Amino acid sequence: MGKPVTSKARRQPAIKAKSATKTPTRSPVKRRVRELSEAAVGPPQRILLASSEVHPFSKTGGLADMVGALGKALAHAGHRVGIVTPLYQGIRERFPQMQRVDWVFDLPLGANRVQAELWSIELLPQLTVYFIYKPEYFDRPGLYNEHGVDYPDNAERFIFYSKCIAHLARYLPWKPEVVHVNDWQAGLVPALIRHQSLAEGWGTPPRICLTIHNLAYQGLFPRSAYNLTNLPLNYFHPEGAEFYGLLNCLKAGIAYADVLTTVSPRYAREITTEPFGCALDGMLRKRQSRLIGILNGVDYEEWNTEGNPNLKHSYTSRRLTGKLANKLALQQELGLPVRADVPLFGTITRLTDQKGIDIELGALEEMLPTDLQFVLLGSGSDEYERAFQGLARRFPHKVAVQLGYNEALSHRIEAACDFYLMPSKFEPCGLNQMYSLRYGAVPIVRITGGLDDTVTDANEDPAAANGFKFLDYSARALAKAMRKALAIYEVPALLRRYRQNAMSCDFSWQRTVGEYLRAYRLDIK
Ligand code: ADP
Repeated sequence: MGKPVTSKARRQPAIKAKSATKTPTRSPVKRRVRELSEAAVGPPQRILLASSEVHPFSKTGGLADMVGALGKALAHAGHRVGIVTPLYQGIRERFPQMQRVDWVFDLPLGANRVQAELWSIELLPQLTVYFIYKPEYFDRPGLYNEHGVDYPDNAERFIFYSKCIAHLARYLPWKPEVVHVNDWQAGLVPALIRHQSLAEGWGTPPRICLTIHNLAYQGLFPRSAYNLTNLPLNYFHPEGAEFYGLLNCLKAGIAYADVLTTVSPRYAREITTEPFGCALDGMLRKRQSRLIGILNGVDYEEWNTEGNPNLKHSYTSRRLTGKLANKLALQQELGLPVRADVPLFGTITRLTDQKGIDIELGALEEMLPTDLQFVLLGSGSDEYERAFQGLARRFPHKVAVQLGYNEALSHRIEAACDFYLMPSKFEPCGLNQMYSLRYGAVPIVRITGGLDDTVTDANEDPAAANGFKFLDYSARALAKAMRKALAIYEVPALLRRYRQNAMSCDFSWQRTVGEYLRAYRLDIK
């Protein structure tokens, strides 16, 4: 498929094959740790990750955080890692150290051939990020849409991107052994690789892992978009890429990947049931033996309360005065009355139905007459944006609303809040509740997906309680959980214990990386 490399590149490969062998360590302790972890998860591997967004280059949600952090953690553990992602608007300006690679994509896309360049950055000695430079597709203000309207050529954009991934998997000099793709944007890669290895001969093709970050987004397109894949029709049927006559990119990935993972154990169970299965539960039940739930980790180099450039004051679970200082600073920044004694609740979110915004608005209506403050950072549906703005107008001394996307402010809110609200209808993993735990903003969550897997309620374990959970999807149930939170706010010793339990939780990637390595090796026929 396409030209692997230009003739110039063949003469002088610009992407140097990196040795996948581990760096020797002189410390006997470190060597022993490495030996033990190799015994558990095997020797170093060569892994190509693919994601349509990667922190710190592009991000609309948790997918970007997960792929950026997993790539780093795998590289730190001694593996050779590449990450493939589109080169979106503004990235080159923000990362001027990026270099053009001597490599040309020239790939069929339906009846046409499409060219693109490859750029790269070495993030760590064992970690290269590859960017697909195709300005006609990716140099736009949004990643997938603008003003809530999807780009009309998304099928073309991401089928081309998927072809670039398969092409790199095949021709990169360091020969990836594992290709780990994420979400629908790369969902066709397993079928593309399978087809190339069957039809064109590929020696030993890589194992393919697909991670589903959110089953609600499937990449559905008219049947005609399938022509852009240049695959024969034997991948387009109800057990493959076809979904009631349409092309379904995520379903194709589910059908043809060797291993499927999703981002929490509970969500892995939920998506095989009808209420959460988004019409793919039957397909997922059939492939259940290959489906593993692996909780996302947190990049604690970024999300920490000490020496964090986004925070005005550092603090730890033992020295919480800095947390209070952050609260006062945020109240001042957002124009709320500066008061140490008032409980501060917060939410940082995409404003979509998934996130339980309707019940959050209802619960706030019920609770705002009480003495509390609430801060929202979010963007999304016009209706929800207007509703929160209305609340801020009606309760100017209690509610502050910041519409838009603001990474630095999100850290300041987590650091300032006493409680964090996350009443999602469904939540594959959720990162913000884990950030809240680390920042001592005690989370109040609905019992679903990763929220259930990461937060402990006093009903489950009074000594380890670090948050509040409720089950009913209703404003009343959320308001009740908020009242419980207000009750512990009145008992400083209890609040301190919740905070300390929360802040001592460890969701680091070092803990989870072994689970991915085991998944890559999963061998089920
Ligand atoms: P999802 O991926 O469904 O949006 P997650 O909780 O897994 O939800 O991840 C959301 C990520 O996006 C978190 O890192 C969160 O802080 C960030 N985020 C969401 N909205 C905003 C915003 N308006 N400003 C800054 N960060 C945001």
